[in-house]
Amino acid sequence: MDRTPKRFPKRDAILTCLKQTTVHPSAEWVYARLKPEIPDLSLGTVYRNLALFKEQGLVVSLGTVNGVERFDGNTSPHVHFICTRCGAIADLDGLEPPDQLRDSAARRTGGAVTGCCLSFTGVCRECLNHQEESA
Ligand code: ZN
Ligand code: MN
Repeated sequence: MDRTPKRFPKRDAILTCLKQTTVHPSAEWVYARLKPEIPDLSLGTVYRNLALFKEQGLVVSLGTVNGVERFDGNTSPHVHFICTRCGAIADLDGLEPPDQLRDSAARRTGGAVTGCCLSFTGVCRECLNHQEESA
């Protein structure tokens, strides 16, 4: 057992939580997940750390879905599908933003492109099925 005290246990727990989940969580989700383990955790601490991670490029923000900001611990360029009904965000594995698009974007701005966030929106399969059942 590693018994050396960690300097930033909350920060580390929040980052690990984001790196380990694929749900593309909100701050509230991270808070609810970690609260049982870290009883003195506050929602403010989660918000502060997420803002910091974002600044440091450790996580990416996927923008707001149904009014709530969502985060991804996977910072490599990949494509998302966002269900506008239930708010589910899924990685579209195997799809990558094309290099060509990135190059064109760089040419347009004349600056340096450092990231790309490509998302499709729509209604997920679960929500579609649900709709058919209740119709
Ligand atoms: Zn859905
Ligand atoms: Mn993702």
